[in-house]
Amino acid sequence: MTHLKRISEIFGKNNHVSFEVFPPKTAQGLRQIYQTIARLSRLNPDFFSVTYGAGGSTAEKSLEIASAITNLAQVTCVAHFTCVGMDQDQVLELLNKLEGQGIQNVLALRGDPPQGQEKFERPRNGFGYANELVAYIRRKKPELGILVAGNPEGHMENPDKNNDFQRQVTKVQAGADGIVTQAFFDNHYLLTYRDKLIQAGVTQPLICGIFPLSNAKQAKRIFELSGSSSPRDLLEKIEKYQNDPLSMEKAGTEFATRQVEELLNAGVNAFHFYTMNRSKQTLDILNNLQTHFPRLQFD
Ligand SMILES: Cc1cc2nc3c(=O)[nH]c(=O)nc-3n(C[C@H](O)[C@H](O)[C@H](O)COP(=O)(O)OP(=O)(O)OC[C@H]3O[C@@H](n4cnc5c(N)ncnc54)[C@H](O)[C@@H]3O)c2cc1C
Repeated sequence: MTHLKRISEIFGKNNHVSFEVFPPKTAQGLRQIYQTIARLSRLNPDFFSVTYGAGGSTAEKSLEIASAITNLAQVTCVAHFTCVGMDQDQVLELLNKLEGQGIQNVLALRGDPPQGQEKFERPRNGFGYANELVAYIRRKKPELGILVAGNPEGHMENPDKNNDFQRQVTKVQAGADGIVTQAFFDNHYLLTYRDKLIQAGVTQPLICGIFPLSNAKQAKRIFELSGSSSPRDLLEKIEKYQNDPLSMEKAGTEFATRQVEELLNAGVNAFHFYTMNRSKQTLDILNNLQTHFPRLQFD
């Protein structure tokens, strides 16, 4: 399995593509995710990442899917995980399980406060912020690849944007190999964030989170959850097509295609697609931009 890589071995001057999937709740959803993984694997992406349900609610299923990506599809995998409700020994136990399945990379997150809790509380003998988790993983498992979450528009919980940006830099400096960003829809924020990271001396790869929108309800939820801004033309399309899902999906694909193309032209070279366990929009976008991704294999 020589092609399974650590994040630090992946990034260079080429353009890079990766995909996020999440553990589904139903048997039908499980069939769909495996079909999506099979379909998108054929493209020869750099990696998949698998999310981790709030508070560890999907820990087993996340591990199962990450293991299938690694051992069946044989594509590099990044397992997300949060430190919500875990002490240091439990974190180590999870890292050992990941390692046991051959998974060589993690996306190290603090996570959101558990339901009913307003503020995140450091678990007893656990971690209060992602930078502490990163430092711990780096110390205990120096060979693991580590990504961290980036927020080009700032993390919603911290009203002081400068302070939040410094926290993000500290988190990368704690031992991360790269940053995956929150979904964003206005490239201005990403490009400003990239320039600020360079000025702050961050040299690790910046992997841009691209969310191909497919329906109006979902779009509103994403803006709410991520705190991302939306350009006026996108909002107009969402309004116009709120009862026309096919046109909304087409508009979402066109928007994301233009978004990625503009970023490529601005020198950005790594794109992480929030697939929502579906392959069609992501494939259409990459098909539209084939010439920029010569290493991808289209049927
Ligand atoms: C790409 C991506 C993938 C994600 N995947 C998942 C997932 O799979 N599962 C899931 O549950 N959630 C996921 N999330 C959401 C994430 O868990 C939340 O955004 C969470 O609120 C913050 O996690 P973090 O790792 O960014 O936290 P941190 O980097 O720790 O930051 C959290 C907040 O604390 C502040 N802060 C940081 N360090 C300090 C410090 N030392 N002192 C004081 N304040 C500080 C920051 O400014 C910020 O407001 C993902 C987010 C992104 C962007």
